[in-house]
Amino acid sequence: MHIDRLLGRAAERLSEAGSASPRLDAEVLLGHVLGVDRTWLYTWGDRAASGFERARFEALVAARAEGHPVAYLIGQREFWGLALATSPHTLIPRPDTETLVEIALELATATEGRLLDLGTGTGAIALAFASERPGWQVTGIDRIEEAVALAATNAERLNIANVRFLVSDWFSALANECFDLIVANPPYIAESDPHLMLGDVRFEPLSALVAGEDGLDDLRRLVKSAFPYLRPGGWLAMEHGHDQAERVRQLLQAAGYLDVASHHDLSGQQRVTLGRMAG
Ligand code: GLN
Repeated sequence: MHIDRLLGRAAERLSEAGSASPRLDAEVLLGHVLGVDRTWLYTWGDRAASGFERARFEALVAARAEGHPVAYLIGQREFWGLALATSPHTLIPRPDTETLVEIALELATATEGRLLDLGTGTGAIALAFASERPGWQVTGIDRIEEAVALAATNAERLNIANVRFLVSDWFSALANECFDLIVANPPYIAESDPHLMLGDVRFEPLSALVAGEDGLDDLRRLVKSAFPYLRPGGWLAMEHGHDQAERVRQLLQAAGYLDVASHHDLSGQQRVTLGRMAG
């Protein structure tokens, strides 16, 4: 069967199954099976796929139709232009989180410094930042060993050397260390949020998504416990839900952070809030 026709049929099936991007999903999955990019598929749409390729593609389409995220099916997701390996042990990097990277880069005006990424998962934020600031030493920590191993693999594959990844429950492995910048995309969804029943999040680790009754458990803990690990004048910047900005600003102000402010993401929502340590 020709590639065009295979894609058309798969897109139809995925659309019926409720995917929000059926054609794109089909192209990414077929590109993965054939080892080619999407441009290749447009150019060579009249080529035939082999029986083996077709069987592999159809198995992936069936899994996608059941709701499995494309990033887990192909084991990869692009973030900040970097191809990151993904696994069901970690959250799938989201384009929204690139806003946090942009803010971290704006704050990192010195050529040298130290950044800590808490709950690094695939290593997305740490790696994006490290790739843009080669003079900085970047540390990514995660409580989950598989996440730390995955992030380290990503660093190696991308040849990013100014980063290290450690297993650490919050700051436990970082005694006496100080950072110019601490960033985090912690879990921030409320336990009862119906959003958890929809789309990719159903397949992602709950530990990376859910933070208590109001979704603020981890943000609260972060604001409280980061203080001793920040240099005087250092910044803490956190991603949060679109309706949490005011509460996160209050948490930072109550804990004594200065210059507390929230920033908009691409869709105009306040999704990142930051504060500075006196000094
Ligand atoms: N932004 C993600 C979502 O809503 C959640 C990420 C997180 O909890 N850190 O799907």
